[in-house]
Amino acid sequence: MNDGTSKKIELEVRNLKKYYKAGRGRYLKAVDDVSFSIFQGETLGIVGESGCGKTTCGKTCIGILQKSGGEVYFRGKDVHSMSTKDRFAFTKDVQMIFQDPYASLDPHQKVYDIIAEGIQIHRLAANKEEERKRVFELLEMVGLTAEHAARNVHEFSGGQRQRIGIARALSVNPKFLFCDEPISALDVSIQAQIVNLLMKLQKEQGLTMLFIAHDLSVVKHISDKIGVMYLGKMVEISQASQLYDSPLHPYTKALLTAVPIADPDVSRRRKRIILEGDVPSPVNPPAGCRFSGRCKNCMEICRQEEPEMREVKKGHWTACHLYDTKMEEV
Ligand code: SF4
Repeated sequence: MNDGTSKKIELEVRNLKKYYKAGRGRYLKAVDDVSFSIFQGETLGIVGESGCGKTTCGKTCIGILQKSGGEVYFRGKDVHSMSTKDRFAFTKDVQMIFQDPYASLDPHQKVYDIIAEGIQIHRLAANKEEERKRVFELLEMVGLTAEHAARNVHEFSGGQRQRIGIARALSVNPKFLFCDEPISALDVSIQAQIVNLLMKLQKEQGLTMLFIAHDLSVVKHISDKIGVMYLGKMVEISQASQLYDSPLHPYTKALLTAVPIADPDVSRRRKRIILEGDVPSPVNPPAGCRFSGRCKNCMEICRQEEPEMREVKKGHWTACHLYDTKMEEV
């Protein structure tokens, strides 16, 4: 999927599959034939309910998980079959912000050592003095201070730990950040602070980001483009504003009606779409459209044929039989 501009593609994902054996010859299709591109300096948010495959998709994109099929290219290089030299450069260029800062940082380690580790591995400082300067700069960049460097991780709150995790990721001057639900384990009161910090750093450093969240209200502010996943499939992808203003897929429409609206009058007038039924098992998904059992618009064809991803409006793709024949006015 290309938006037709001259921007360079940072990450290209083609027909990516990640399957797990589920016994008796069956497979759990966690990610099934997913394609998208992220341009340099752009943020793609991927949303969907838990278990939809969004985190597995992100981890397979950056090579933490092996793929079952398809291709992923970072700056034109195949992520899943890199030379040792390219792999080493990739581990510097692509960094991850984890979901749970309590689990991803060793509570007994000194903040300084955590942040300095990447600088040392990739030999990014000429001497100890330069390394110290860089660690202190990074701490300030994420809203902490040089005094915090000598303390152990367990002395910090969740929000502060996530700031340390961000400083660690930025210590190696990455080009790409994979943020796996980076605020879901934090108090609501500090979630916005971390999102704002990531947005500020992304702009300042020209980073490209893949941002995973289960909530559309979180990705709204941070994403240029948004992809919606359901049961291992990407069902809609477009520019963020277009997805919010005129969603196409019935699942996206339902998710959007659950996003809180600040204006109480608008909120009262909005009709919430309640999704009926549970998400089916990815081991035994429904035939045809995977959303068919929960979709109010379901037609005969939906239970028989899997809808293909199509570009319904310029740059706005969806996989839904409602758009098989008509091309909407742009
Ligand atoms: Fe609903 Fe059919 Fe579209 Fe699936 S393909 S989302 S069942 S209308």
